[in-house]
Amino acid sequence: MQSSKIRFQNKSKKRWPIIVIIIAGIILIITPTVWLGLHNWNLDESLIALNLDQSDKEPVDADPEPQEKPEQIPDSEDKETAPAEKPGKTETPTETEKPEESKESPTPPVEKPADNTIYIPNQVLPTSPTVKEGIILANKQNPLPSNYNKGEDPKARAAFEEMAAAARLDGFEIVAFSTFRSFERQESLYTQYVAKDGQEAADRYSARPGYSEHQTGLAFDIGEKNFEQHWASSSFGDTPAGKWVAQNAHLYGFILRYPLGKEQVTGYMHESWHFRYVGVEPATDMYTHKQTLEEYLGL
Ligand SMILES: [Zn+2]
Repeated sequence: MQSSKIRFQNKSKKRWPIIVIIIAGIILIITPTVWLGLHNWNLDESLIALNLDQSDKEPVDADPEPQEKPEQIPDSEDKETAPAEKPGKTETPTETEKPEESKESPTPPVEKPADNTIYIPNQVLPTSPTVKEGIILANKQNPLPSNYNKGEDPKARAAFEEMAAAARLDGFEIVAFSTFRSFERQESLYTQYVAKDGQEAADRYSARPGYSEHQTGLAFDIGEKNFEQHWASSSFGDTPAGKWVAQNAHLYGFILRYPLGKEQVTGYMHESWHFRYVGVEPATDMYTHKQTLEEYLGL
């Protein structure tokens, strides 16, 4: 029995390696077979799948590079978009240039009124006065002939007397302390003013000979009797009489010729005492629309 047991043990000892080899062989055969079966029994597909599995692993390591590269690409795209933005930025300057152009367009109207305070250099006096819509115009751009010497206008005088009568009823004794001035008289006055205050200052409050509205015979400097201290002074506009004239003159055909804040339009500083006869209808139009004569005539 012992010998048979030993034989069995010897035999089993000899069989174990064979069994291991057989099992290993089976595994070696089954594994490729199963792999092949998983890939539709296609050898190429199975081999590609095998390589892909390996390449799948490689990109995992390579991913940081492609990720870094895409990150670099946006950088370069930024650089590309940056020049694209640069034209955009150069478009914005053109947009800012446009406002500059639009700034230039309002500038001429600003300069245009500013010109009204300035005489046209070396201007020769005309042979006939400027008349627009039946209204004689005399300002720093539209002088009168030196021989325009019609004296005080009778219609203007009649209108003033009518206004003075109405003012009297309201308790104000108004007078016209200066109306018609000849070319020669204005020449004398202007020369005195220039000698006293200099030409620049004189040009603000006095007209050069040929440019005075008083030469038309239609301009009336108005003041209150016994209140001479306010004559030809801005303070007249603050007196009750001055306010009355300012509010009622248009009803008699007169306009406040040089209103406050319109120096660049009319060419002269505010003169609360200087009124100009234009007729009731134009005067009322200008008073209602707060227009100067230049604005009313579209100059
Ligand atoms: Zn005057």
